[in-house]
Amino acid sequence: MTTHRTKILILGSGPAGATAAIYTARANLKPILVHGMQPGGQMTITTDVENYPGFAEAIQGPWLMEQMEKQAVHVGATLIADTILEVDFSKRPFTLKGDSGDTYIADVVIISTGAQAKWLGLPTEEKYQGYGVSGCATCDGFFFRGKEVLVIGGGNTAVEEALFLTNFATKVTVIHRRDSFRAEKVMQERLFKHPKVEVIWDSALEEVLGTEDPRGVTGAKIKNLKTGKITELKADGIFIAIGHKPNTDIFKDTGLEMDKDGYLVTKPGTPKTAIKGVFAAGDVQDKTYRQAVTAAGTGCMAALDAARLLEEEVA
Ligand code: NDP
Repeated sequence: MTTHRTKILILGSGPAGATAAIYTARANLKPILVHGMQPGGQMTITTDVENYPGFAEAIQGPWLMEQMEKQAVHVGATLIADTILEVDFSKRPFTLKGDSGDTYIADVVIISTGAQAKWLGLPTEEKYQGYGVSGCATCDGFFFRGKEVLVIGGGNTAVEEALFLTNFATKVTVIHRRDSFRAEKVMQERLFKHPKVEVIWDSALEEVLGTEDPRGVTGAKIKNLKTGKITELKADGIFIAIGHKPNTDIFKDTGLEMDKDGYLVTKPGTPKTAIKGVFAAGDVQDKTYRQAVTAAGTGCMAALDAARLLEEEVA
C-alpha cells in the first residue's frame, strides 16, 4: 500500500485524460494518470478512425490510444493501473483511494473517466450477454462469421457497428425505434447501399430468443411501435448500440454537480466543476459532441486551467 502525493491526478486514460497528462507533464507538473479497467477508454473498442485530424489514411482506435499513452509517458507523466473506489473532495489536497489499497493525495484532480455503452434492460438481454448479445461489435464481431446478426440503435455507433459486422456476418439487420437515423449522412449512405444490410424502422427489441444448453441466441421478438405487431426474426447475435452512460458513480455525494443523466456539470465553456481544483474533461461531462478530438480538446483546457490555478496559488 503506497501513498502517492502529486500536484495533478488525472482519472481516466482516453483522449481527454491522455491529453491532460501530456499538457500537465510538459508544464513540469509531474502528473499521475490512473487508468481503470479499460486503458485507453472507448477508442480501444473502435476500429477505423477517419476523423481524428492529422492522419490522411484511416487509423485504428487502439493504436491511436497507445500513441497518446506513449506520448504522455515520454513527456514525463506517470501511469498507474488502479480503480479509484473512494473520493474525498471535501478539502484540499484531495484524497482518493484505489482498489489496490493505494492512496492518492492531489492538489488538483482532472476527471476524465468517460462513458460506457448502455443496455436496454431486458431480462433476456442480460441472460444472453456474452452468449450472443454484445455491446461491442469490434470486440465480438469476429465470432459471427457466416452468421446473421441484429443491431439495435440509430446513432453513429449503431451504423458503424452494422457496417463493421458486414465483414463477418452474412446478413445484418438494423432495428431502430424511429423512421430515421441520427447517424451522420455519409455513414447512413454507406449503410443503405450495403447489400448485406436491411433496416427495420419504428421497431424495438422486445425479447431475445435462445437456447438453454448450450446457452445461445437464436433470434428475437421485434415489436413494431406503430402497429404493436410482434414479429420473430432469426439471428445468431444481437448488438446493442443505443448510446452511453457516463462513468460517474464514484462521484455521487462528493459535492460535484451532475445532470439528470449523471454527466458532470462544468461551468459553460470551461472544464471547471463547482469544486475548486476539480476539473472534468471529455465524455464524462459532454453528451453532445462526444468525439475523440473534442475530448482531447477539453483535456487540454483542463490541463491549462489546472496549471494556471496551481501557479496562482504559489504566487
Ligand atoms: P447516440 O446517443 O448518438 O444514439 C443512440 C441511438 O440509440 C439513437 O438512435 C437512439 O434512438 C437509440 N436509442 C437510445 N435508447 C434507446 C432505447 N432504449 N431503445 C431503442 N433505441 C434507443 O449514441 P451513439 O453511441 O450512437 O453515439 C454517441 C456519440 O458518439 C455521438 O455523438 C456520435 O456521433 C459519436 N460517435 C462517432 C463515431 C464516429 O464519428 N466514427 C462513431 C460512434 C459514435 P433515437 O434516435 O430515437 O434517439
